[in-house]
Amino acid sequence: MKEFAYSRARTAAEASALAGRSGTCLIAGGTELLNWMRLGIVAPDQVVDIGAIPGQAGIRLEGDTLLIGALADLNRIAGHPLVEAHAPLLGQACRSAASPQVRNRATLGGNILQRTRCPYFRAEEPLPWGCNKRRPGSGCSAHRGRNGEHAILGWTGSCVATHPSDPLVALTCLGAEVELVSPNALRRAPVGTLHVTQREARHAGEDSARYENTLRDDEMIVGFRIPAQSVTGTSYIKVRERRSYAYALVSAAAALRVEGGAVRSLGLVLGSVAQRPWRLRGAEAALIGQPISKDTVHAAVEEDLREAKSLPDNEHKIRLARNAAVRAVLTAATS
Ligand code: SF4
Repeated sequence: MKEFAYSRARTAAEASALAGRSGTCLIAGGTELLNWMRLGIVAPDQVVDIGAIPGQAGIRLEGDTLLIGALADLNRIAGHPLVEAHAPLLGQACRSAASPQVRNRATLGGNILQRTRCPYFRAEEPLPWGCNKRRPGSGCSAHRGRNGEHAILGWTGSCVATHPSDPLVALTCLGAEVELVSPNALRRAPVGTLHVTQREARHAGEDSARYENTLRDDEMIVGFRIPAQSVTGTSYIKVRERRSYAYALVSAAAALRVEGGAVRSLGLVLGSVAQRPWRLRGAEAALIGQPISKDTVHAAVEEDLREAKSLPDNEHKIRLARNAAVRAVLTAATS
């Protein structure tokens, strides 16, 4: 591993100013950056520790908005009474992420910015195969190789990776905003717009394998704002190969309000099917005013997933996504 300078930032503005410098990486819990450095995905000249910046790990209620600092760790979020009362979906997603040990270190901000688990990407240098994310123009080994866990939506031939975060799916479903600090500004954005699919990157004129999110170089995530919602039930379903510790093959989050036997509002989002959480807007709209039944939900989700396109090894993910979304809505309806 290359030698690097280490320093501690005292404020978010100071950290974001340093983050804008070439060769600088920020570190908080360290559950991602150290892996990237070990594998040679990044080789920073300077690592800036943001883990001790005061006031960045709080969880509090402000009016009807739940505020969670970017440095709050996943276990604390999962067990916090305010999260349990106002955003239990997020608590459930945090509890299902990683292992208890990792959740004690992993921050919410870092979890959102983790990168794909594509095995061709997560390999040690010198890379023995092509990966356009690691080496532009070297090809996508997953596209023609092992792709059973890869994307079914929004992908291009340049990259078929997915985003693996659980909390990001719940935050998107809850309509949360992310707060971003740069040296001269604080801005908010819907959390669901932070990441882009490969196809969206290409439409924006960017490298569809390398461009993953809209975060600017000198911006740092400082917190999340989650609107308190009048939902009658929520559910997070995570489908994975083993329950103890595994990334999602597919996940689904639902936040539902039912009144008088009919759906009044619905948030329905899939995870691990694309390079960002995938909102099933068609199904959300189709179910408004409808009674909840397995048939109506199944039909709405099936219709919305018509645009999904499988790779040679992952056709099963379309069925898993459909079943997880249906189960999330039906479970939310009875929770
Ligand atoms: Fe690399 Fe993306 Fe292809 Fe994986 S899917 S090998 S990350 S280019």
